[in-house]
Amino acid sequence: MPMFVDTSPPGQCIFCRLVAGEIPAATVYEDHLTIAFMDIGQVNPGHVLVATKRHAATLLDITPEEAAAVMQTAQRVAQAVRLAFDPPGITLLQANGREGDQTVFHFHMHVVPRHAQDGIALTWPRKEPGPAVLQAYADQIRAALLGDSPPQLAND
Ligand SMILES: [Zn+2]
Repeated sequence: MPMFVDTSPPGQCIFCRLVAGEIPAATVYEDHLTIAFMDIGQVNPGHVLVATKRHAATLLDITPEEAAAVMQTAQRVAQAVRLAFDPPGITLLQANGREGDQTVFHFHMHVVPRHAQDGIALTWPRKEPGPAVLQAYADQIRAALLGDSPPQLAND
């Protein structure tokens, strides 16, 4: 994961300054809701970030329209990255919160061209709690989706 962490206040963050044209960026696409530009870190050649134009920190702070627009731009950029760089794989990565490995607190999604043994790794420690626990987790999320009651944390 990248080590750079942007702790600027909302409206002054690095992506807001980029959207405002205050700092240079290698922009590849923009529309009224999103902007796509080259990640300065370039984990692999063709690595693009898709961000909301409006400042919103995480997935939980953007509108459904912005969420849809970001995914549409990511798909469009991924198609162009395939044509331009022909990677055998493409990974989308979207991080929320410091514990979720977010480092710039302005909503964005990575479009990462992937190659065999390219050094990118996400550890995935499977817990496999069993069907009863899965059903309990599902019950909590369904209740939250319906707004029935405040969800109880499974660990409580
Ligand atoms: Zn911002």
